[in-house]
Amino acid sequence: MQKVENFNLSEIDALNQKFNKCSAEEVLEFFLTRYKGKIALSSSMGLEDQVLTSMVCDIDKTTRIFTLDTGRLFPETYELIDKTNQFFDINIEVFFPDFKAVDQMTSAKGINLFYGSVENRKECCRIRKIEPLKRAFNNLDVWICGLRRDQSVTRFSTKKIEWDETNNIIKLNPLIDWTEKQVRHFLKENKIPYNPLHDKGFPSIGCQPCTRAVKPGEDVRAGRWWWEEPEHKECGLHNRNQK
Ligand code: SF4
Repeated sequence: MQKVENFNLSEIDALNQKFNKCSAEEVLEFFLTRYKGKIALSSSMGLEDQVLTSMVCDIDKTTRIFTLDTGRLFPETYELIDKTNQFFDINIEVFFPDFKAVDQMTSAKGINLFYGSVENRKECCRIRKIEPLKRAFNNLDVWICGLRRDQSVTRFSTKKIEWDETNNIIKLNPLIDWTEKQVRHFLKENKIPYNPLHDKGFPSIGCQPCTRAVKPGEDVRAGRWWWEEPEHKECGLHNRNQK
């Protein structure tokens, strides 16, 4: 197996060309086989992640699936973790933030510091999401994500296969070309559980204090950090340091 450190951008381009017209399952099958033991699905328990969980379990149920518990999730999300484990007979790994870092942050800036400024919000996301994600990346060569291109302005240029320069890891987005309609159809057809908030005006669900329902016609990510400008609306998990 090729060492991930040796990957260069022309190889990523070649893989994108190779899998350009392939289905999500075909792409997953190739990567799950080639990187067995070095690949994991990072699930935020969103609609797309539920589709990917199903596909991954069908191909290789021993694949690691993990999620980040920021400590500020909706009760419905915790219920879904449980339901998903039961439905697929799996055990999703849960990564938590470092409690000392959370303690220091909230003592200095308050429990809801994120409303104060973009910097505060990014600090909270860094401590509650980015640092645990980096721990989850230990010994991984590939992470699988549920990004779709039409989810937000920050994701227009996202490719199916990317090199994540920040984390030195291949990032695989098998559903990048899917529409929300396709995602919902897959979940319905396969009777897969999903977060009931998605049917109550929440197309994108993150932490409870940073997510609101959107109005008809609003951008799907309008409910995330709604007090910020659209171009700031990434938590750093999917920054554009990807090639
Ligand atoms: S989404 Fe909000 S609560 Fe969650 S980590 Fe980011 S700033 Fe903190």
